[in-house]
Amino acid sequence: MNIHEYQAKALFEKFGIAVPKGAAAKFPEEFDTALSQLPEGTTVVKSQIHAGGRGKGTFKSGFKGGVKLCKSKAEAKEVAGKMLGETLVTVQTGPAGRKVQTVYFTTASSIKKEYYLAILLDRATSRPVIVASTEGGVEIEKVAHETPEKIFKVFIDPAYGLADYQVRELVFKLGLNAAEQKAASKLIRGLYTLFWETDASMVEINPLITTTTDGVEALDAKVSFDDNSLYRHPEIVALRDLNEEDPKEVEASKHALSYIALDGNIACLVNGAGLAMSTMDIIKHFGGNPANFLDVGGGASREQVVAAFKIILTDPKVKGILVNIFGGIMDCNIIANGIVDAVKEVGLKLPLVVRLEGNNVVAGKETLAKSGLTITSGDSMADAAQKIVKLVA
Ligand code: GDP
Ligand code: MG
Repeated sequence: MNIHEYQAKALFEKFGIAVPKGAAAKFPEEFDTALSQLPEGTTVVKSQIHAGGRGKGTFKSGFKGGVKLCKSKAEAKEVAGKMLGETLVTVQTGPAGRKVQTVYFTTASSIKKEYYLAILLDRATSRPVIVASTEGGVEIEKVAHETPEKIFKVFIDPAYGLADYQVRELVFKLGLNAAEQKAASKLIRGLYTLFWETDASMVEINPLITTTTDGVEALDAKVSFDDNSLYRHPEIVALRDLNEEDPKEVEASKHALSYIALDGNIACLVNGAGLAMSTMDIIKHFGGNPANFLDVGGGASREQVVAAFKIILTDPKVKGILVNIFGGIMDCNIIANGIVDAVKEVGLKLPLVVRLEGNNVVAGKETLAKSGLTITSGDSMADAAQKIVKLVA
């Protein structure tokens, strides 16, 4: 789960991480109240979307820049009016862009230098890793590619936690002066505590800045949480912004379905993530394109199958459906009945290919055959994939 910059910065403050003073607004009527919380002077207006690259982004209206430095609060108010409700396109949003539904005003900081700081989980070592760089404010991927020697990594033993010598190593490598080192050490400690205590999967500050008065601040903030830990963080779940998520994925999560929308036209309904991956692969192999990844899980119920069909059919790109079920613990006949019910309930008109295998498969196939519905049976994954590719062609 991701949160907005303004929410991440509120969280930063709780963990003693220095951030510029700021206030958010969701409606034009809230601009004055938000701005009244900030001192008069140079003010930054920041579009709040779950994507980066906002500074260099362009609105569909033609207005340039999703992050704008303004000379006064009056100018900030005018700029905010040009951002709120408009669609911002950045390198990370894709061409469709994202509608800005919140703007965030911050007091402008006087930047001495921009740095990069992040903490994430390193899968290779199974440890949190702090990634820091003297090259901040730009795409870190570019720095990693072109000047990898400018990126420092510190791996943390989760049992021991972040050690003092590791913090010293980081601030030293960043080349900070004594006053900055002190402020940065406090910030790094706070960031690690936040990462650990909130079960974050990633926290990223780009840019982390030193100010002309030797301060160290988080100018931008991105935090992602591990979805599997959300049950123990109701205060974080409350920050979820469904506007930023695909409505189909939101609906799927309500039914405990793992659904990810893709660009193709063959919808897949599969039990098990591995089988879902190989189903997408085999569709591709035979020249088709999957419209989604959909894992109904090991014990898919009739309700889940119906919900899955409904979600699939809200995607106008879908021209056909491939159901690929392996009945291990699951009884194929229960699934077959679920499919028949679902097809009747949603009044399916698109081609449907079903491949069933495993536990009680004979009865399952019989249920489908006797249903009187136009369901094409696939005998193997390859057979089923070829059939659906042909039917949508
Ligand atoms: P992003 O483009 O989505 O990553 O948004 P950021 O929050 O990182 O803002 C983009 C850039 O705007 C930063 O890298 C800074 O260079 C600049 N910026 C943001 N806030 C301030 C500020 O308070 N003062 C100054 N001088 N520049 C700022
Ligand atoms: Mg940034």
